[in-house]
Amino acid sequence: MDTTRRQMLTGLGAAAAGHALLNDAVAADKSPSSQVGDLCTTLKITKMKATWVNPNVFLRIETNHGIVGWGDLKGVDPRVSKPLAESLFELIDGENPTRIEYLWQKIFRAHRNMRGGALMMHTLAAIDMALWDITGKLWGVPVYRLLGGPVRDRIRVYHTPQARKVPASPVNHAETPATLEKIVANIAAARKLVGPSGAVMFDAHSAIPPAALIQLASMLKPYDLLFIEEPAVPGNIEVFKRLKEQINIPLAAGERDRGIYEMLPYLLHRCLDVLQPDCCHTGGITSMKKIATLAEAFHVPLAPHCTASNLGISASIQVAASIPFLLIHEFYPDNKGFNPGSIMRIDWKVDAEGYASLPTGPGLGIDVDETALETESKKPQTYKWPGQKLKDGSIADY
Ligand SMILES: [Mg+2]
Repeated sequence: MDTTRRQMLTGLGAAAAGHALLNDAVAADKSPSSQVGDLCTTLKITKMKATWVNPNVFLRIETNHGIVGWGDLKGVDPRVSKPLAESLFELIDGENPTRIEYLWQKIFRAHRNMRGGALMMHTLAAIDMALWDITGKLWGVPVYRLLGGPVRDRIRVYHTPQARKVPASPVNHAETPATLEKIVANIAAARKLVGPSGAVMFDAHSAIPPAALIQLASMLKPYDLLFIEEPAVPGNIEVFKRLKEQINIPLAAGERDRGIYEMLPYLLHRCLDVLQPDCCHTGGITSMKKIATLAEAFHVPLAPHCTASNLGISASIQVAASIPFLLIHEFYPDNKGFNPGSIMRIDWKVDAEGYASLPTGPGLGIDVDETALETESKKPQTYKWPGQKLKDGSIADY
C-alpha cells in the first residue's frame, strides 16, 4: 500500500475508509463514479429520454456523473406511456437515483387518483429498473448483489426442450366437447415432446369460462401439468376460490396484477399455488422483490411472467436470482418481437438442462447499442388496439 493511501485510510473513520477502498476498486474499472466522494451523495438525475421502438418504449436516465440507466416500458399503448414517462420525469429530475425506494414511493403516491393501474405501474416499473441499473453500475455489481446476493447458481426457464407451455384460444360459454378435446390433444403432444421428466404448463389466458375450465382440468390429470396459468380474469376473488376448490392441478396467475395490494388476496384466500408477477407490469424490481417476500410467507413460489425486451428480462432475472422460492422463469431468448434489430445484448446463456446462467455485467448487465436503437426508432412506429372475438361476434377475454 502506498504512503498516501495508508495516511488517508488511517486519517479516516472505518466507514469512510471502506468507501475509499471500494472507490479504488471501482475506479480500476474506469467507472465514472470514481469521481464521486462516497459514490452516492453527489449523484443526481439530470436527463431522461424515452424512445419508442415497437412494441416498447425504452427509457434512458442520465446522471451528472455520466452513469446511465435503462428501463423497459411495455405492455401498454406507447402513444400514452411515452408522454406519461416524460411527465413523470418531473418527479425524479435532480433527485439522487440511488434513493430507489423513496423515488418509487414518490411516483406511486404522487397523485391520489392516478395511483396504481396498468399505465402508472408499467411506467413506474421502467423508471424503477433504470434506477437499479444506475445503482448497480455505480457499485460495479449486478443488481442481484444489491438484493441480498444470488440464492441460486442458475435459473430454470421455459421454453426449452425440457419445458413447454401450451396456450389457449378464447372459449365460448356454449362450446362443444371437441374444443376441449383439441386443447387436451395439444397438451398431450407437449408432454410427449418433453418426456416424463420435463415440465408442461397450460395457459388458460383468462379465456376459458370457469365451468369449462373445471371440466377441462378433469381431463388433464394424466399429463401432470406444472400449473394452469391465468384460470380466470382477475377482479373477483370468489371466481378463483371456486376454481381452486374444484381443480386438482396447481393454479398460477399474476401477470395482470400490479403490486403487493393486488397480489395479497390470492395468498390470503389460498387461491393460487404459484404467483406470476411480471417485473415490467408490477412496478419493477422494487415491487417484484416485495411480492416474492409476501409469497414466501405463504410458501408460494414465483414463476415470473416475462414477455419483455432483454432489458425487462434481465430486470426480472435479477430478482429471480435473489429470491428463495422460484419455480421456473419465462424466457424467450430468440424473441425478435420484443427485441427488434440488435439493440440489446445479454451476457447469459441457457444450458443443456434448461437453466439460464446469471447475468454478470454491472446493473442490469445489458449492453445497449444506442446507434441501433436510434435507427430502429426512425422506422414508422404504429400501434393498434388488440382484441378478440368469439365465433358469434361477441367480445372475448384473451
Ligand atoms: Mg400468460
